[in-house]
This record gives sequence, C-alpha cells and structure tokens, in this order.
Amino acid sequence: MTEIIAPSSIGLLTGKVVLITGASRGIGEAAARLFVREGASVVLAARDIRALERIASELRAGGGTADAVALDLAEPASIRSTVDRVGELHGRIDGAFNNGGVIQRPGALDATSGIDIDAQFSVNFRAHWTAMTAEAALMREGGGGAIVNTSSIGSRRANAALPAYGAMKRALNSITETAAVTWAPDGIRVNGIAPGGTSTEMIDAWERATPGVIERLSARIPLGRMADPSEIAEVAAWLLSDRASYVTGAIVPVDGGAGA
Ligand code: NAP
Repeated sequence: MTEIIAPSSIGLLTGKVVLITGASRGIGEAAARLFVREGASVVLAARDIRALERIASELRAGGGTADAVALDLAEPASIRSTVDRVGELHGRIDGAFNNGGVIQRPGALDATSGIDIDAQFSVNFRAHWTAMTAEAALMREGGGGAIVNTSSIGSRRANAALPAYGAMKRALNSITETAAVTWAPDGIRVNGIAPGGTSTEMIDAWERATPGVIERLSARIPLGRMADPSEIAEVAAWLLSDRASYVTGAIVPVDGGAGA
C-alpha cells in the first residue's frame, strides 16, 4: 500500500462554515480532518453520534471548530433540522459536502429488491435533493456558497453489480447539474465528485458480499491501487474553496484513471 503523506495546509477553506454528511467514518471523516486543517469550521452529521462526537472532540482538541449533529438521511425532516442547526451554530453556511451514502446488496438486476431500490432512492438521491434545497436557502441568505455531492464511478456506465446504486448515483449527477444551472445566479456553485474504489467500510462490505472484488477492481485502476479517503476529500476541499470559483455543474472523476 502506497503511503499517503498529508500535504501541508494552504488555508484553502479559511473562515468557511462547512456541513459534512456521512462524517462518522470513511471519506466524510477524512474530509472533516482535512477541512479543519484547511481552516474551516465544520458541522459533522451522520447516524452514529458517538463516532461523530469522538471525531469532533479530537478536532477541537487540535484547535479546530467542530460540532456533531445526529442525522438520518432517510428522513427529510432530519436533514432539514441538521441544516437549521448549522444556521443556529454559525448564522450561515458557506459549503456543504453531501457525502453520506449507502451501498446496496451487491447482485444482478433480477436479484435487486424493492427494498434496495427504496433505500437507494431515499438515502442516495432524495436526501441530496432535500439537503441541497435547504442548504441553498441558507446560502442565499449569506450571498452564496458551494455544494459538493458524492457520486461514484459506478454512475458512469451500466452497473451490473450494483444496479440500483448506479442508477441513483446517475440521477444524483443529473440533479447536481440542474442545481448548478438553477442556482448560479444566486452565487451558489454545485459540483459532484465521482470516486473510484476507495478504502473504506463501504468497499469492505462489498468485498464481504463478493470476495475478490477489491483485487478485481484494483487490477483495472491505472494508478494500480484503491484511493485513500483523504485523496477523495482533497478534491471536495478544492471544489468547496474559492480557488474553484469558475467550476460549477461538473462531476469530477477521482478514480486513479479507472474511468478513462
Ligand atoms: P462508509 O465508510 O460506509 O461511510 C458512509 C457514511 O455515510 C458514514 O458516515 C455513514 O454514517 C453515512 N450514512 C450512511 N447511511 C446514512 C444515513 N441513513 N443517514 C446518515 N448518514 C448515513 O463509505 P464511504 O466510502 O466513506 O462513502 C462515502 C460516499 O462515497 C458515499 O456516498 C459512497 O456512495 C461514495 N463512494 C464510495 C466509494 C468507495 O469505494 N468507498 C466509491 C464511490 C463512491 P452512519 O452509518 O453513522 O450513519
């Protein structure tokens, strides 16, 4: 495994208030640590409040500003109250990393159940629509902001192993582009990132269901390995920063060349 050396901070997100969903582990946790290092105040959201509190208190101990909020992406009211909480804590929101998501039970289209479809719809698509509209309303009050949604390389082509997941991530790409076009006049940029295989619990769950999948996926990655979660978070940080001021409506691959 290649060792990933954390680059030194350049203050990319200095002074920004950023909400991160799916911050209890994986890519979202890596984003929490990176965004604080880059100067942001973060609000961390997911279901596992104990994990969030642990991460937030570590960040505060290091001099950062971090709060934890319990969130269930399957519940629209929970999403709206999480965004309200950011407003109560900070009076504004500058950035949102809508990253929380769930894998379906791996399997072919004929084996995909209505439960899989419903779960993928509510957590991987509807939740982003609900979150984005609430975030945009708060951003408008502050004169603008930036949103990044986590899609997947699995959205780009037919997805025979994760059919419902691929479909909902592709729907997310569409609504991300629509939001970018709709809210550009409000000074709100909206982009997506499409990670390839990344070493988190999600890929471990897929490996448990389909032994050998990590090796097979890795063999098709030109850079020859899975991503470290921090490498995905880096792209989100840049897209949320003012350095990406002319980027909106993009779905940026972060996949080691796997989709090329
Ligand atoms: P992970 O380690 O499984 O983390 C998923 C995060 O989403 C956790 O923080 C989890 O928190 C949260 N989450 C799941 N269901 C939720 C719900 N109902 N309400 C609130 N939070 C929920 O996976 P990851 O790899 O970091 O995934 C992050 C994003 O990257 C996802 O959108 C995923 O689809 C995408 N992605 C991952 C890969 C990969 O290879 N790992 C590749 C492409 C795209 P709680 O369980 O505490 O709620």
